[in-house]
Amino acid sequence: MQFNGVVKSKLSGVGTSIFAVMSQLANEQKAINLAQGFPNFMCNKDLISLVNKFMNKGFNQYAPMPGLLSLREQIAIKTEKLYSAVYNPETEITITPGGTLAIYAVIEALVMPGDEVIIIEPCYDSYSPSVRLAGGVAKFARLQFPKFTIDWNEVKKLVTFKTKMIIINTPHNPTGTILTASDMLKLEKIVENSDIVVMSDEVYEHIIFDGVEHQSVCRFPKLAERSVVISSFGKTYHTTGWKMGYFLAPENLTREIRKAYQFMAFAANTPIQHALAEYIKNEDEYLNLPAFYQEKRDYFKKLLKGSKFKLLPCSGSYFQCVGYEKISDLSDVEFAKKITLENKVATIPISVFYHNASDNKVLRLCFAKDNETLEKSAEALTQL
Ligand code: GLN
Repeated sequence: MQFNGVVKSKLSGVGTSIFAVMSQLANEQKAINLAQGFPNFMCNKDLISLVNKFMNKGFNQYAPMPGLLSLREQIAIKTEKLYSAVYNPETEITITPGGTLAIYAVIEALVMPGDEVIIIEPCYDSYSPSVRLAGGVAKFARLQFPKFTIDWNEVKKLVTFKTKMIIINTPHNPTGTILTASDMLKLEKIVENSDIVVMSDEVYEHIIFDGVEHQSVCRFPKLAERSVVISSFGKTYHTTGWKMGYFLAPENLTREIRKAYQFMAFAANTPIQHALAEYIKNEDEYLNLPAFYQEKRDYFKKLLKGSKFKLLPCSGSYFQCVGYEKISDLSDVEFAKKITLENKVATIPISVFYHNASDNKVLRLCFAKDNETLEKSAEALTQL
């Protein structure tokens, strides 16, 4: 079927998200999917039992618009314990169907037409289209290759009287790098005495390695008071398909964001919120996550040691970036397609995370997989 009228696009030049494209290709090709970021192992059965319990008990109707209060209270307790930051569960914590929707709601609510938003590339692919949909203008800084660190002078130079927001992300998708306390202090300096809001995407907060502590913006009171923090239950509990996330923000920002959010989703899944409100009390689940994923990272690295890929440092997230210069001259998009078809391993080319498709010949591999999958994929990649 075709609509006969004129279809004007609000997102010209934007295609289908690379995650959908590569997952579909992986399925068609029966390739191992190291592309889209999701675990291929089970979440904890107790969590499933809890969701079941609440479904059977009849908790199947709309949750309160900002989320179940008991879950928000638990998030407040957790955030204070981990980051010494106090958020009011009634007015400063909001549960959403996934981190991506939270990001969209924040941008849609706060960015006015013509406002500028500073985005640091490579970055998660929803940021820039969300800014465009809000009528905002994205201004791009870039992480410095190959270490993928932020040049804060470059960020500072992009700030104008039109800058409404700066988006940061730590641990970082797609590069696996993390921001340090010194990064946060530099950011603090740039935004002091301005009206700039910081949106800090911290969905991988519990996937950080080598004993390093996650530097949440929450830890920096001067930043926290102008920041919206995005978090995700999917990453922490191996349940990305449940689409559950939340955001933390000062009261007056929250009020404005909820105004928009209520007309996007109204509320998140009820029985899962009840289940999480109980399950989140089990601190070990997230306190053990760094060790759990560090073991996977180290194992995957070991398996790839004999390959021609260059392994870039991975300090957090469940993504290992690899350079393939010694293997092929193809563009990263072409190379990713080729190895999906020929070697049956799907990956993500990093150039798709830049507005101008910068190609450093790097692929992103998701190692949130059981050992057998890591072994099979490494075996195929080592043959290249
Ligand atoms: N965050 C995950 C990734 O980067 C998946 C996102 C998505 O599928 N939209 O792969």
